[in-house]
Amino acid sequence: MLQQEIFPIIIPAILFSIIFTFNIYNKIQLNLNNKFLYWTSIFICCFFLFKNTFYYYISDKRHVRDFQIDPFFSMNKSIRMKYPIVIGNTSILLASYFGFKEKYTNVIEHEKYNQSIIDNNSISYGKYKNIILILGESAYRGRHSIYGYEKNTTPNMSKIFSQKNSCVIEKAHSPASITRDSIPMLLSFAKPNNELPLLEEKNIIEMANTQKYHTSWISKTRESGPHSSKYSIIAKLSNTFIENLEDDLELPEKLIETNFQKNENNFIVLHLAGSHKPYNLGYDQLDLQDLPNVDNYDLTIHHTDRVIEKIYNTLKVNLDNFILIYTPDHGEIVDLGHGLLRKSESFSNQFEVPLMIYSTYDDFPCNEIENYRNNEKMVNTSNIVYLFSKLLGYSVNIDHSLIMNDLILSVDGQPYEYQSFIKKYQ
Ligand SMILES: [Zn+2]
Repeated sequence: MLQQEIFPIIIPAILFSIIFTFNIYNKIQLNLNNKFLYWTSIFICCFFLFKNTFYYYISDKRHVRDFQIDPFFSMNKSIRMKYPIVIGNTSILLASYFGFKEKYTNVIEHEKYNQSIIDNNSISYGKYKNIILILGESAYRGRHSIYGYEKNTTPNMSKIFSQKNSCVIEKAHSPASITRDSIPMLLSFAKPNNELPLLEEKNIIEMANTQKYHTSWISKTRESGPHSSKYSIIAKLSNTFIENLEDDLELPEKLIETNFQKNENNFIVLHLAGSHKPYNLGYDQLDLQDLPNVDNYDLTIHHTDRVIEKIYNTLKVNLDNFILIYTPDHGEIVDLGHGLLRKSESFSNQFEVPLMIYSTYDDFPCNEIENYRNNEKMVNTSNIVYLFSKLLGYSVNIDHSLIMNDLILSVDGQPYEYQSFIKKYQ
């Protein structure tokens, strides 16, 4: 990445600075006094520039924790994005010089299966031909009317997921509160206390490819850069990969362009921008018309509701049979965000997610999810990876200690037991 920027950005920036400084230096007639003034002002400017950057960086504990987990990612995300060119690139060059490298850059295929996979020829092999995951963003369950919220934010979800063989799962929570950590645990066998399966074993996209599914990953946002590299190494293994759209409503249009209905089998991930901050970018006039007296966050949930309806209709028109699963990467503390480690009554909202399933085949997916409840009756959405494996025709032997030991990965990089963790911050 840095090599790409040396010629177009770093060298021209340095040359320009030298020429500019040299010119100014020669233009002003330097005597002893203004020579002192000149260097003092340069020193003061540099001092404040670096001091502010440094202060910004260490004032947020999350940056420091990010640094401990993955220094290159942390510098790239927090300094280079905010202070590009000189300070940003210098920090990254230094990080690189000291041997730190971005951890998740290699999009490689893996040979090894997770130990829970027994074989790839179960009795349901070939049965579930079309599996579609709508991966939402920052959707807090408590703002969905389908889960009892008083404002009518999800009229379409209520219709779609109340049909035969459908279900609206209660008490689901995400395995992390940030996108980067959560998605790899939904689509690989990585767990909050063990990320090695992400790096060393086949993920769900690879397993679908092996079973001759046509895999498609279509995303509203760009699946590159420091926030997404940890799951883009999964996404980019798809047969069809499309990113960077204008609006979530374009996702079904792009899907149609892929002629997906011509494939014998499909495994499709549609990744929304959903309800990510800033909320005012996540809805349009139609949402405002339908729900005039709600806050911006509710409008983003309503927008997602329309996106899901449009995807559902596209699938209905083009496929005889399919399974549609909707869940976001994580929840949201409305107006504050997610990935937060501060005491708040609504702390758990960043983990509390909707999880819904529609199936034209049978009620197997809804029944199977019920097997993933722990003693507190919670479903950790990282276990959805077993459901996908079974739908793809694999025989799976689930280690039940992974279900009972309900862990989340905190933004400090440590795994914690979910119930005790949320109580600590509430
Ligand atoms: Zn997210």
